[in-house]
Amino acid sequence: MNSNEIMQAAEDHLIHTYNRYKIVLDHGDGAYLYDIDGKKYLDFGAGIAVFAFGYNNKEFNDALKAQVDKLIHTSNFFYNEPMAEAAKKLTEAAGMDKVFFTNSGTEAIEGALKLAKKYGFVRDGRTDHEIIAMGHSFHGRSMGALALTGNKHYQEAFGPMIPGIKFAEYNNLDSVKELVNDKTIAVILETVQGEGGIHPAKKEFIEGVRKLCDEKGMLLMLDEIQCGLCRTGSLYAFMQYGITPDVVTTAKALGQGVPVGAFMARGEAAEALVPGDHGSTYGGNPLGATAVCKTLEMFETHNLTDHVNKITPVLEAALNDLVAKYDFVTERRGMGLMQGIVVTISQADIIKKSLEEGLILFAAGADVIRFVPPLIITEEHIAEMKEKLIRVFDNI
Ligand SMILES: *Cc1c(COP(=O)(O)O)cnc(C)c1O
Repeated sequence: MNSNEIMQAAEDHLIHTYNRYKIVLDHGDGAYLYDIDGKKYLDFGAGIAVFAFGYNNKEFNDALKAQVDKLIHTSNFFYNEPMAEAAKKLTEAAGMDKVFFTNSGTEAIEGALKLAKKYGFVRDGRTDHEIIAMGHSFHGRSMGALALTGNKHYQEAFGPMIPGIKFAEYNNLDSVKELVNDKTIAVILETVQGEGGIHPAKKEFIEGVRKLCDEKGMLLMLDEIQCGLCRTGSLYAFMQYGITPDVVTTAKALGQGVPVGAFMARGEAAEALVPGDHGSTYGGNPLGATAVCKTLEMFETHNLTDHVNKITPVLEAALNDLVAKYDFVTERRGMGLMQGIVVTISQADIIKKSLEEGLILFAAGADVIRFVPPLIITEEHIAEMKEKLIRVFDNI
């Protein structure tokens, strides 16, 4: 099929939940993607903060290929080595006690939500517990995750939402305190809000929520599905805040494109779910678990957090230059290689024209252009991105 035939076949047969760009991607290499006609794109989206090591990484691919030839799937009724190794490596690295592997981020949230409800049920036998989530949050598209997502537009057609979810204002501790009552069992937030527009949590906010959770016996659940896994310069972003959550959700970069996510817990919360409470046919299968093991191993062998910390100021400086140069670019914010610039002109125009220039960018929130490149990017990639973006901005 040529590119038009491919796009037509996709539009004819896929449920239309995405307005796709008219580009048919074919293969990737490092920080670059190539379409079916050979056009090259510098990728500052990384498949939505997924490809930490870039595309077609031989070391990673070889590990997957070896596992494909050995065992892809068994069910969760048996043990296998990758499952055990991934669980050990991930929980130890994250400072958590236990993990449950899922196939996606939204399922990790779904599981964390059930864990919180069960934790409350074990404690007092009630089922009317409340959970506090944040405005402008994003936790996924399944019904539980959607109920926690502070975006009315996403929820509108799908009510009723599961009851007992209240929304506080992100980075406003008082707004959280106001919602706490004797039924509140957990607070969930993204350590750095992603889809909502790249908002890092303020240190006082996270510290305050941690303290509040300790005082009231509530679980602090951090969604690190986008900001976790070295993206902000530490394995998980919360590690830079000097606090430890009770529950962490993780996905996106966890399998480098192999669909795998997880929720982790520590202490009493890690013991809340028991046989019969939760399950998954695929979750943590040998292929997914191999991807997790290899990802965590390569973070270490490639000193990826060091690299992220070294390269972050270069990206920040490049984006700061754009803020200084164009009056329609009003602000830069972010943490590590999860950055955004606020624009007062159309996000869609910028993204479309960037694609024409061979640069892949995603939007976030209503007015933010998001930069979540592969973590292996170099100064040269950043210079190339800036050059392309200057051409876009000069012609807009
Ligand atoms: C992407 C994302 C999710 C949902 O993950 P999926 O794998 O798309 O289901 C949940 N929370 C955050 C913070 C995300 O960025």
